[in-house]
Amino acid sequence: MTMKTAIYPGSFDPITLGHLNIIRRAAEIFDHLIVCVGYNSKKNPMFTAEERVALIRNVTQDLPNVEVEASDELLAHYAARKGACVVVKGLRAVSDFESEFTMSMINKKLNPNLDTMFLCAEEKYMYLSSSAVKELGIYDVELSDFLPSEVIEDFKARLNARR
Ligand code: ADP
Repeated sequence: MTMKTAIYPGSFDPITLGHLNIIRRAAEIFDHLIVCVGYNSKKNPMFTAEERVALIRNVTQDLPNVEVEASDELLAHYAARKGACVVVKGLRAVSDFESEFTMSMINKKLNPNLDTMFLCAEEKYMYLSSSAVKELGIYDVELSDFLPSEVIEDFKARLNARR
């Protein structure tokens, strides 16, 4: 049997418990999961791509089949180069679906060997996004329901530095 590699792409600025939940579930399904941090997905990111990679590596240390890297390559080409057959996406709401559906068709057009699989967000993370956490971070809100504990200190430090 050939090894099944999947890619989970995103901006992860920073990684949330919702992202981590998708990573853990996808790592159970596939032999090898590559978390791919996009360089140019956001104009003014809070963390550099390298910093985001380091944060994700730190919270996925216990998952031996998870690899994390940054890339600015077109996803369809990156997947082909990595020998990946599936792109994993998390779906929070129906509103996520429309753009994800279009993107999956474009990826399929560019790389016919590449399928997209959607994992439904777990109920408790349905409302969670990196941008929502950044809004909350400005206020004095307990973040442990939103971010991995290892990420909270770096996140707060970066928010303070930006102010
Ligand atoms: P965001 O900035 O909205 O958190 P990302 O680009 O970092 O988005 O997200 C990467 C992927 O993770 C996308 O497929 C997105 O739908 C998914 N995702 C984001 N947050 C969650 C969540 N709370 N639960 C499940 N999937 C999620």
